[in-house]
Amino acid sequence: MWDGELPGTVVLGSDCLMAKKEFGTVVATAEILAERDSLDMLRNNRCMWIDTHCHLDAPEFGPDHALGLQARESARALGVALCVYPAVERANFDAVRELAHRTGDAYALGIHPLYVPRALDSDLRALADELERRAGDPRLVAVGEIGLDFFVPELCTPAMRERQWQCYREQLRLAQRHGLPVILHGRRSVDWLLKGLREAAARGRPVAGGIAHAFNGSLQQAQVLLALGFKLGLGGAATFDAARQLRQLFATLPPDALVLETDAPDIPPQWCYVNAAERAAGRPQGLNSPAELPRIGAGLAGLRGLTPDALADLSTANALAALPRLTALLPLLAGAVSPVQTVRQVEGSSPASAASNPEP
Ligand SMILES: [Zn+2]
Repeated sequence: MWDGELPGTVVLGSDCLMAKKEFGTVVATAEILAERDSLDMLRNNRCMWIDTHCHLDAPEFGPDHALGLQARESARALGVALCVYPAVERANFDAVRELAHRTGDAYALGIHPLYVPRALDSDLRALADELERRAGDPRLVAVGEIGLDFFVPELCTPAMRERQWQCYREQLRLAQRHGLPVILHGRRSVDWLLKGLREAAARGRPVAGGIAHAFNGSLQQAQVLLALGFKLGLGGAATFDAARQLRQLFATLPPDALVLETDAPDIPPQWCYVNAAERAAGRPQGLNSPAELPRIGAGLAGLRGLTPDALADLSTANALAALPRLTALLPLLAGAVSPVQTVRQVEGSSPASAASNPEP
């Protein structure tokens, strides 16, 4: 298993982002080991985003992923420094790995709960073998996308719930074996996801955190996930005015909780979404892609009273904490020559007062 660092790279642990809420003012403090250029970039308000979840290999992105590759380049020009491509089944393990290497991004390997009905036991063995084979690949950053879906009716029969559960548990075991974080999918199943994580921790070393993708649970569930070392992935769904609960959650979660994602091509933001009546009238569905992430971030930042670049900094630091291997892939942070501490004012107090109140 690959267990080291690339030469000359930096490592941010989950304790590197510390945040606190004081008198209604949120101050996030990120301790970042970085080279001068990357700090200049941050200071010059050139936002750097990480799309922690997108499926660039999906058929919507055309033959040979042509539209996806185009969208990835557009995203890069808008400041999306990294994307994470989760696998969904054995058949796309190669596709996500090859794409990540081609675009300079990251990938995860796993079997998605929606693909459990057609997965064979041999697919889990293939996943175990592939994780072994790619253990030294620095672009492999997590086991995912795995989890439980108790929303789709066909997946809710007793037999299928049991099959999902066994598949989820087995993949948590693999994550534990490799010391990798996990990217979780959960619909109407967060308590069961938590049960699996607790069981795994009782068996041995805890799962190394990760991301609860497309999170839409309660604040209490969010707090338990955070305590287990997870971040919560939010994105396009929260851009809809009608998504009041989700927007409230985005506004009130602790600052170290949030990472951003497009889940492209799924979960389009409001401006890409075309309803059934509009489709019938001939208006085409907009294609959600990683290039939408900066606009999603800019739209959501205001919910927390943040500027877009402050949300970009915060969510990027959180993504690096959730998926630590990403740090070595960031072109401007890699090759650090000296440790530099940055105290970034995200909201509220002046940089001077933030610096004079160092985190405990
Ligand atoms: Zn997904």
